[in-house]
Amino acid sequence: MNTEALIRSSRRTVLVVEDEAVNREMLGFILQDQYEVLFAGNGREALERLRAFDGTVAMILLDINMPVMNGYELMDALRADAALSSIPVIVLTSDREAEVEALGRGAMDFIPKPYDMPQVILARVRRIIEFTEDRRLIKDIEHDELTGLYSRNFFHEYCETLAADHRDRELDMISVDVDRFRLVNEINGKAFGDQVLRAIADGIRDVLAGRVGIACRSDADLFFILMERLPDYNEVLRRIRRRIDDMEGLGSLHLRAGVYQRVDQSRPMEWFSNAAKSASGSSRNNYAKSITIYDGALMEKALYNQPLIGDMDEALRQKQFKVFFQPKYRIDGEKPVLYSAEALVRWVHPELGFISPGVFISLFEENGLITRLDTYVWQETAAQIRRWREELGIDFPVSVNLSRQDLFDPGLLQKMQRITAENGLPAGKLHLEVTESAYAQDVELMLQVVGELRGAGFRIEMDDFGSGYSSLNMLCLMPVDMLKIDMKFVQNLLKADGGYRILQLVVSMAHSMGLPAIVEGVENQAQYELVRQAGCDVVQGYYFSRAVDADAFIRMLRDSLKSE
Ligand code: C2E
Ligand code: CA
Ligand code: CA
Repeated sequence: MNTEALIRSSRRTVLVVEDEAVNREMLGFILQDQYEVLFAGNGREALERLRAFDGTVAMILLDINMPVMNGYELMDALRADAALSSIPVIVLTSDREAEVEALGRGAMDFIPKPYDMPQVILARVRRIIEFTEDRRLIKDIEHDELTGLYSRNFFHEYCETLAADHRDRELDMISVDVDRFRLVNEINGKAFGDQVLRAIADGIRDVLAGRVGIACRSDADLFFILMERLPDYNEVLRRIRRRIDDMEGLGSLHLRAGVYQRVDQSRPMEWFSNAAKSASGSSRNNYAKSITIYDGALMEKALYNQPLIGDMDEALRQKQFKVFFQPKYRIDGEKPVLYSAEALVRWVHPELGFISPGVFISLFEENGLITRLDTYVWQETAAQIRRWREELGIDFPVSVNLSRQDLFDPGLLQKMQRITAENGLPAGKLHLEVTESAYAQDVELMLQVVGELRGAGFRIEMDDFGSGYSSLNMLCLMPVDMLKIDMKFVQNLLKADGGYRILQLVVSMAHSMGLPAIVEGVENQAQYELVRQAGCDVVQGYYFSRAVDADAFIRMLRDSLKSE
């Protein structure tokens, strides 16, 4: 038996916190066959028991109204204690009002009093324990396997903590990458390329030794470092070069760094790493320059002074933005069936050429223009669905992306309804992708806004699921119809040991919530087969097709209709 199965099979400990002896006994009686049960009569006693207990408590069943320290107070105390904050709590209550309050304090689920349905209680306890443990396993992929540095998502999370813990220091975000690293792989082989990446990571560790800072490999040859201010950033590149200089067979590499100075907590950390990267990108063709400091004013000038960016209306009118479609296939049958698509925007700029959404979306989120662009994309998409209906006689659902900012628009629901109505579509044909991190940031608003959209018939897909931000209690309660699993799980499939098991877990989490699982980023057959085997319902990825323009997409639709 592997360790994981072993863990699964051992008896878990559950702590019941209840002041009424009758209730305590009843719960003990229900749980004792399957769990070790500890008891406490109020919050204070519970804290004492938890701190004295030298095993792991898998779950707390918590009454709210208790003397000395009540349930809410205990939840606050748990959250403030790093050793205890990850224990899931189910609240015992007869009062629906209390549920909202308890949710806000981190409760994962509720069990109504009186306890007249033991099976329901056991099922809930089991589900939440499994869920929490699965989630923890997933969290374990904090590190990049190749270099041992953090992986991207966790890096950004830990950056928040680092910044919060070191408010007194000036922290800078640095990006490091290698010019045309692809060539190293092509000329010297991938194994050698990996060696170079490990050496770069070692160089970065050298820089960080004895200093406040952390680092990650974001993807391929792109590294980020958040660290206390250095007098001279050449030191970073020098340290790295020292590690790679004596590597046999490696020609001269051109390393490039971008720096964003004085990171603060006013924006998400990813914004700063993007800014550092775009600074270094802006000197891409300048070999004399290895380090570029982000200069907000300069960037803004470069981007906003483009006459057409300043004038979004003009850019929209000139149709510089194009909506592309990437197909999604159902794979739960014998062979893949074209079933939906994701609308992805492209920008073909008259002077700058093709600009990737990875670059301009965050820019527009910054300056608030994103809502205008998104509305345009939704309109174009709805019009496209109508055209397919007219030309092919099919009702083909397509998902569009929502930015966090869209969700703050009080007129969002009306806007969506207007767009579908104008094109004679039922709401259900437009699927809305809302990224997991949006859910995590403003729980109550999300519950309300997304709930309303869903109530009106729009189908909600939680995008980038598993990227590590949302808390479990929210996941259980969020109004969603499908989970779209973050690409990193597919990327880890063939790399990381246990990558397959982890994907399976995420898929089973989706299924345990009664939701289909979509997997994106499937690039090759090997991944496809594993994804299928893991029980995913829908896939999207380069293996099937990249996002293509409307003309190419209608051909895909025709072909798929023919082959039916
Ligand atoms: P996303 O919503 O996670 O979209 C999926 C991204 O993964 C797309 O990148 C898609 O082209 C890419 N992709 C699909 N299959 C594969 C694959 O097999 N391998 C790899 N490596 N990548 C794959 P894209 O089009 O560059 O979009 C990037 C992000 O920009 C999107 O991520 C989304 O967050 C945002 N975005 C795109 N269009 C819109 C839009 O209309 N509105 C908003 N608000 N955001 C958008
Ligand atoms: Ca998406
Ligand atoms: Ca995604």
